[in-house]
Amino acid sequence: MHSMTQPAPLPLLVRCARCGESKDPSEFYAHPKNPTGCQSRCKACIKARNVERRAEIIEYNRQHRWEDQRVRMASDARRRDRAAHRASDIEAKDIFIPEFCPVTGEPMWHSVDGPAPWSPCLVRIDKTCGYVRGNWKVISSNALVLESEPTGMLVR
Ligand SMILES: [Zn+2]
Repeated sequence: MHSMTQPAPLPLLVRCARCGESKDPSEFYAHPKNPTGCQSRCKACIKARNVERRAEIIEYNRQHRWEDQRVRMASDARRRDRAAHRASDIEAKDIFIPEFCPVTGEPMWHSVDGPAPWSPCLVRIDKTCGYVRGNWKVISSNALVLESEPTGMLVR
């Protein structure tokens, strides 16, 4: 019988499966289905893991966006189209960022610290339509200013 091996009353101390320390049950979040009534890991370990996971996600996003800024360019464009109730079909894989700005002829690259004159930007050709196939181009932020394009997107 279960009662022979599993004592019914809550234990005085619960051992954390992660750090291995035996702690007061109040140091654990509740888990009614466990025999101890506690989660297997203590609050401190769960909090530490959450902080760790958050740092991992931030680092992933930082690297991901740095490696392929087109992901951000496309999602920004789609968000703008959604906000303006325009059709939108732009995807990161469709975006080609030329080495040189087609307007100014100057080199383009993404800046780590935020928008810069040489940052590639998406700009719509027909302003009445959204970021749909054939209706956008990539030019430098500098060219955007020259074209006095008020709705252009600066890539951060
Ligand atoms: Zn622990």
